Amino acid sequence: MRPVTLVPDLVYVHGRFRNDTAVRVDPLTGRIHEVGPAVDLMAMGAVERLPGRALLPGFVNAHSHAFQRLIRGRTQWRPAGGEAADFWSWRRSMYGAAFALTPEDVYDAARFCFLEMLRAGITTVGEFHYLHRDPEGGRYADPIELARRVAMAAEEVGIRIVLLHTCYATGGIGRALEPSQRRFSTPDLDGYLADIDALLGAFAGHPGRTVGIAPHSLRAVPRAWLTPLHAHAAARDLPFHIHVSEQPSEVEDCLTAHGCRPVELLDGEGVLDRRLTAVHATHVTPGEIALLGGSGSMVCACPTTERDLGDGFLPGLALLEGGVRVALGSDSQTIIDFFEEMRLIEYHERLRGLRRVVLAVPGAAGRLEVAPLLLDLGTVAGARSLRLETGAILPGLLADLTAVDLEHPRIAGWDTGTLGAMLAMSGTADLVVDVWVGGVRRIDGGRHAREEVATAAFRDLARRIGS
Ligand SMILES: [Zn+2]
Repeated sequence: MRPVTLVPDLVYVHGRFRNDTAVRVDPLTGRIHEVGPAVDLMAMGAVERLPGRALLPGFVNAHSHAFQRLIRGRTQWRPAGGEAADFWSWRRSMYGAAFALTPEDVYDAARFCFLEMLRAGITTVGEFHYLHRDPEGGRYADPIELARRVAMAAEEVGIRIVLLHTCYATGGIGRALEPSQRRFSTPDLDGYLADIDALLGAFAGHPGRTVGIAPHSLRAVPRAWLTPLHAHAAARDLPFHIHVSEQPSEVEDCLTAHGCRPVELLDGEGVLDRRLTAVHATHVTPGEIALLGGSGSMVCACPTTERDLGDGFLPGLALLEGGVRVALGSDSQTIIDFFEEMRLIEYHERLRGLRRVVLAVPGAAGRLEVAPLLLDLGTVAGARSLRLETGAILPGLLADLTAVDLEHPRIAGWDTGTLGAMLAMSGTADLVVDVWVGGVRRIDGGRHAREEVATAAFRDLARRIGS
């Protein structure tokens, strides 16, 4: 593996597509060496021409539950004459799938899901992992067995992973875990923190693996644990992610139990800061948005999941105007397509505000444009949320790159002025043809080397899980 100069037709740098530009990557360091005039960089050694391709930073998926790929298509019904379907009835179906999985199944589901992400141009996944125990609720001989399996699945297909190891101790505020939640259990704080340190030890020396601390939600973690969990993250410089205000009833439970709203509680516990990402934040008030923005905290929106689960609309404009950076996640894997995640943030504001071109930033010729901001949500913002040096094509950053097919009929008629908008508002994952993670090619012409074996194992698993 030696440095190579990639020479596509276009490179996306600083919010613009540039001609005559090349990117020199080093698979040994995993970094981008240089970005500059193609004619100069091609004189430096090995060259790989990429005709008909535009090179973008790889997408950063800041919130995923890989095993939920298994329930795609299995929750789109409700019993005739029965109660209405909602987030909570969906959750019962999801628990059913979680219950059935062996460690090998967890591996097969994660491997296939991560492969689908790579094919969609996602080069990093923040895996919010909360399957910890065996189906009876007992500890595995190695308490981080399932986390290791997920990390191994990521390594086999070559996606970068931040294992957001989830702390899950209660079934609701002040309530014991339900029997159906026993595989998620981390009943004592010291044991959970020991598992984090064991994971850090196990991942040392693997450049594509890092760890984050993830209290599942205010319903699943005692309030008194938040400060020590955050202190552990700060001492080890880890990201700190938590589901916040996805459903109105979570907010009501918090108000009833604590007399304050969820973000107010996080502020009171002193855990709002730049390492915190509030996942969803669908039902937040202007006051809560001010607390998030003032502290540098981030939000991770998962709009394809939020619309599937009937969660509500992200207050995207209010968050961004309040100084809150917004990352994106595929979450429940109903769809794995970051083009779709990006544009929904804008489209929800159009539907809400009865206007167009809402989340716009200064572009060419005195215009305000949506594409640079939307592409930023899927790349730079995710990298910040996961505390990784990726998300842009710049020297020194991780060489995580996605190439789209400029000959694809979906974007026929593009020029350098319209390509960004075509991708952000009309693109789909099947535009992605080549993907590099750490300078190593993982998707080549739309295909992955482990595709057949990963797909066969996943199909077999899906058949066994049943509907
Ligand atoms: Zn989630």
